[in-house]
Amino acid sequence: MLKCEICGKQADKHHIVYRSQGGIDFPLNFKYLCHEHHRGKDGPHKNRKLDIQYKLELQDSLEALLYKDFYFLDELVELLHINKGMLKRIFKEYRLYKEGYKKSDIIYRFMGKKVYTHYMMEEYCDFIANL
Ligand SMILES: [Zn+2]
Ligand SMILES: [Zn+2]
Repeated sequence: MLKCEICGKQADKHHIVYRSQGGIDFPLNFKYLCHEHHRGKDGPHKNRKLDIQYKLELQDSLEALLYKDFYFLDELVELLHINKGMLKRIFKEYRLYKEGYKKSDIIYRFMGKKVYTHYMMEEYCDFIANL
C-alpha cells in the first residue's frame, strides 16, 4: 500500500506537474497523497499555493540534481528513471548541442514549459490578503 507523505493514510499518486500541464511520468514528479491531502481543500488540486509550492520543490530538486549545463538523454534516463522512448519524443523539438541538451531546456520541459518562481507564491499571498 502506498502511504500519504503527509499523514500516512492510503495514498494515490499525484503528478506534481499534472499530465494536463505537460507533466511527465517519472518518480520525482510523483507525490503520494491520501484523498484528503490530494483532492481536499488542503490538497494541491484545490489549494493553489500548495500546488505552486510542490512545483517549486520539484524545480529546485531538478536544479540540484542536474548540476551540469548539458545532458544526453541516456544520462537523464539514468538519473531520473524516465522511459527513454518517451524522452526521445518529448525532446524532438529541442535543440541537441554537441554537449547534449541544455539543462535549462530540460527543466523547462519537465516543469510543463513553465518557469516557477517564489514570486508566484508571494503574488498569491498578496491576492489572498487583499480579499
Ligand atoms: Zn494524507
Ligand atoms: Zn493529483
